Amino acid sequence: MNNLKAVTEVLLNSKRPILCGHVMPDGDSLGSVLALGMALQAKGKEVTMVSSDPLPDLYEFLPGIKEIVVGSVPEKNYDLLVVVDCSVRERLGSTITPLVDYGLPVVVIDHHVNDQPFGSYNYVKSTAAATGEIIMDLLEQLGISLNLDLAINLYTAIVTDTGSFRYENTTPETHVKIAKLLECGVPVSLLSNLIFGEQPLKSIRLLEVALRNLDVSECGRIAWISINQEKIESVGAEDQHIEGLINYPRKIKGVELAISFRELDQNRVKVSFRSKYTVDVNLLAKKFGGGGHVRASGCTIKGNLLEVKEAVLKEAKELFRGC
Ligand code: 5GP
Ligand code: MN
Repeated sequence: MNNLKAVTEVLLNSKRPILCGHVMPDGDSLGSVLALGMALQAKGKEVTMVSSDPLPDLYEFLPGIKEIVVGSVPEKNYDLLVVVDCSVRERLGSTITPLVDYGLPVVVIDHHVNDQPFGSYNYVKSTAAATGEIIMDLLEQLGISLNLDLAINLYTAIVTDTGSFRYENTTPETHVKIAKLLECGVPVSLLSNLIFGEQPLKSIRLLEVALRNLDVSECGRIAWISINQEKIESVGAEDQHIEGLINYPRKIKGVELAISFRELDQNRVKVSFRSKYTVDVNLLAKKFGGGGHVRASGCTIKGNLLEVKEAVLKEAKELFRGC
């Protein structure tokens, strides 16, 4: 079943839904949770919104963000778990997965490439640039009119996942939806500055460290950065300050595939992939147990930084016939 009407019915029949996105929440995940949460509240539901991981400071301007409970899940008699922007159970986070294990019905609303969604009810549209686009369609089904708070959350969801409408996932439908959001008065230049125009000093210091560890393959088609725990700590940075660093290897002229390696601990490395025109990085991440989209994907791999880099670069170079 991949039917938005059916999912709408399930949402309408629920009384006490709990909503979440994915670990290391981003703009699409947070904006989508908040917009759907507000809509369900307007429908008289007792809504709880949760995030396993801390919320990046960057998104503190999102209307309603303080309502998201971070960390442990409040004990309540939930009747439905609504998961947005998350294609696999593992990315719900340790505090939320038990809800699935205990048999709570799950609705998954998502735009990742995924032919086996884990929900009891699923709506997956991989051609949507952001889950926020799907939430807009859902609001229409729910009979909810847009207002400025909803629009700011949805605009943020879409503008972040499309990299300001620059990525390949941007469609005419994206722009039609954005036009509707702008009609609600979204302050575009203010949001653009808050999201893309400024960063905490720690992020810039981390960028400096990351750029000193930037490598390019001999053929010039693959570029990567690696960051270990020590370097992150040396500038007092956290997870949230790493977001966006992969855009620097991606920016290099001639590079098709950008990779970032980030040491989580001695035995786990988070790897992110971005491509420009040809490489299907969803397939590449899948080889290492991850996934995502054709041009943006990720995975977490067991092993130390050196081992993981070697394994991933070997696989990556094969895509360019040795490189
Ligand atoms: P990022 O590199 O920004 O963390 O993630 C890029 C894209 O890949 C996002 O759409 C994200 O959902 C997906 N992604 C990142 N890490 C994983 C992972 O470990 N597993 C899966 N299935 N998808 C991931
Ligand atoms: Mn998304």
